Order: sequence, then structure tokens, then C-alpha cells
Amino acid sequence: MAKIGWIGLGNMGNPMSKNLLDAGHDLQVWNRTKSKADELVGAGAVLADSPKAAAAASDFVFTMVADGPTLHAVTLGADGLVAGLSPGKIVVDMSTVSVEESSKVNAAVEAAGCKFLRAPVTGSVALAKAGTLGILTSGDKASYDKTLPLFEIMGGNQFYLGGGDEARVMKLSLNLMIATTMQMEAEAVVLAEKAGLDAQQAADIIAGSAVGSPLTNYKKALIGAGNYAPAFSVKLMIKDLKLAEAVGKQYGVSLESTKLTKSRLELAAEKGYGEMDFSILTKLLEEESDFVR
Ligand code: NAP
Repeated sequence: MAKIGWIGLGNMGNPMSKNLLDAGHDLQVWNRTKSKADELVGAGAVLADSPKAAAAASDFVFTMVADGPTLHAVTLGADGLVAGLSPGKIVVDMSTVSVEESSKVNAAVEAAGCKFLRAPVTGSVALAKAGTLGILTSGDKASYDKTLPLFEIMGGNQFYLGGGDEARVMKLSLNLMIATTMQMEAEAVVLAEKAGLDAQQAADIIAGSAVGSPLTNYKKALIGAGNYAPAFSVKLMIKDLKLAEAVGKQYGVSLESTKLTKSRLELAAEKGYGEMDFSILTKLLEEESDFVR
């Protein structure tokens, strides 16, 4: 069984690490808000004092945190995991961060004689719980092969994309489609509602139509019920679209619908919906269209 350190027990990190624990691996966890580790500790995980301590006790160290600055804090800070590394360990970041932020961590991990895998995920909390995420990985291939049995516990779809930061770019390409799809669905549902149709029926029809997708299927009951409890927050999606725009700029690709959707999400955040699910774009448009359910 592998010795695993896990940093970051938010909506995603908690169920992902729980699946590793349930598979019988030794798990050391660390989270800024300690109480989020209670359930895992009750199930047999060890609460580490710092990311550094979790890394020192493990052969594989995973991070699943909000964004690049947080990744830097938990890896490069005084008590960060890099300070706990000894040669031969594998560090895996599964958060969504920029290529630049990722490269900085890679340099520090390699300087410690270890390997760094970039492994952002597709799919939300339900798939994290079910162990059926899509995992996009790039970095050292031999380290990928060693880590694959652990990835397979967390995800049903594995993709190896190359030796560098390829997975970061692919993840952002995917997320810009996820975000713009929710903006399109908001427009379709609110138009139907204003014309007297039922939101649930509209969302069901969309999910079952030619434009239906796993995403429109996950979201149909929530949009139908107007339930925007966070699976993936507005705040985090804005972060991803900003990163996608930066990659677009870097490669000279104009991302017009991404820009528009980002401005809609920023408006939602200004209205106080930053912590809600990004599918709240439907509610935002209902409000602007003077529609009350
Ligand atoms: P989340 O629930 O907001 O959790 C964020 C994690 O980051 C928590 O462990 C949080 O600690 C930690 N954190 C935030 N700021 C910190 C700081 N300054 N110092 C130390 N720790 C800090 O986010 P999530 O939904 O699990 O997402 C995690 C990553 O996966 C993000 O990069 C996101 O873009 C990506 N992702 C999410 C989804 C999804 O559907 N949710 C899907 C695919 C990818 P506290 O508990 O102390 O706040």
C-alpha cells in the first residue's frame, strides 16, 4: 500500500482522498481549516501538522487546492511540502492553475530531486465521490506510470498528454466550454420561462436533445429546482476563465464567448453569488429579465 500525503480537503479534495483511504492506502492529510479533516481522521487518516510534515511521511504527495497562489503557499512556503521532500518522491497537483504557476512548483520539486505531475481533473463533486473523474496528466512518464494505480481509484478516464504542462492547457480549454455551455443554457431556459414554459421541462428537453451532454444532465434537476448550492463555485470558474484568457493571449487565439461568460460570472459575483454554483447564471438572467419563479 502506498504512503500518501494529501493537501487540500475542499469540495473535491475530501471525496478524492477518501477514495484512496477506502482503497487501503496510508493517508496523511492537511487542510487550512482543520475541521474539514474530521471525517477522514475518523475513517483512519492521520492529520499532519503541516504540508511539510505530510510530505516527509509520504512517497506520493497530492495537492487539490483553490488556485495558484494557494498552491504556492502549500508547496513553496516555509512549512510547504517542498521543505518535507527527500529525493525520489512524486508530487501531484490536481488543482486548476496556470502554466506559469505550475512551472514554478515543478522547478522547486525537481530541485529537491523529485518529480512533479500536473493532473487537473474534469467532473465535479458527484464524480469525485464516485471515483469516476476524468484525469488529465502531464509530466514525467515513468512517474505517471507509477501513479496510475492511484489515479485509477479516483477517476474512470485517464489521459496522458505529454512531458510538460500540456494538461494545464487542455483543462482550461475544457473549462471554457463548460462555462459557456452554462451561459447558453441560461439563455435558453429563461427565454422558455418568459414565454410561459416550465424551467424543469426546458432543462430536461435540453439534456435529452442534440445539445445534451453529461453537463446538462448533471445540472438539469438543479436548474429546474433553482438550487444553486455549490459544486463548482462562480469564484473558481472566474479564476479558470481568466487563466483561459491568458493562454488565449499567449497563443494569439481570440476567445470571445469566454470573455462574455466571464463578464456574466463577474456580475453574479458582484451580486453576492460568488460562492454559489456557476449554474446560477440562469438565476442572474431571470432577475435581469424580471422573471420570478
Ligand atoms: P474548494 O472547495 O473551494 O476548496 C479549496 C481548497 O483550497 C480548500 O482545501 C481550502 O482550504 C484551500 N485553500 C484556499 N485558500 C487557501 C489558502 N490561502 N491557504 C491554504 N489553503 C487554502 O475548491 P474545490 O471545488 O475543491 O476545487 C479545488 C480545485 O479543483 C480548484 O483548483 C478547482 O478549480 C478545481 N476543480 C474543481 C471542480 C469542482 O467541481 N469543484 C472540478 C474540477 C476542478 P479551506 O478548507 O481552509 O478553505
